[in-house]
Amino acid sequence: MAEVSAKRLRFPVESYVPDGIVFGKRAEHQGIFWGVHLGEDCNLPAGTDVYAIGDGTVVYAALHEGTAEKGNWGHIIIIRHRHPRLKKVFYSLYAHLGKCFKNIGDAVVCGEPIGFVGEAYVPENGFWPAHLHFAIYIGPWKGEVLPGYWKEGDKRTRPEWWRCPSEFIREYDGSEKKKA
Ligand SMILES: [Zn+2]
Repeated sequence: MAEVSAKRLRFPVESYVPDGIVFGKRAEHQGIFWGVHLGEDCNLPAGTDVYAIGDGTVVYAALHEGTAEKGNWGHIIIIRHRHPRLKKVFYSLYAHLGKCFKNIGDAVVCGEPIGFVGEAYVPENGFWPAHLHFAIYIGPWKGEVLPGYWKEGDKRTRPEWWRCPSEFIREYDGSEKKKA
């Protein structure tokens, strides 16, 4: 299958306001640092439509059920995108969805619905308040689900493999124009 480039990007919901936990937030538990938040959280009503931010291919779609004791991803989708000129590959991640409309291997176009914000505190949303966790990943792809936090000593990911999602989308220039 020929890989489609992402010429433009849009935000994953109609009104994108990262009013929850911000990108890069250092989380503490009882005064002790334990992790860095790798995405942006938007508090949204359950049922809010979530869209693919650009043309790409779904590389991960699954349900990671949560419980009252242990929160999880709920439904999560990861899409692979490619910059048309730089040929760089990056990934967009959408979590705590109520459902995945797409499967691994599916091609998606910019603005295509891929799911919706899940109900609060059910296994399908990972057992959290209703919100979207949205992230941009530029690191290597290993075919496994990605974490939402980087924890000190964690070998699964590195903080430098993540970008501030709202900045990344605002600054994205996928035009084919060459620099003069
Ligand atoms: Zn989050």
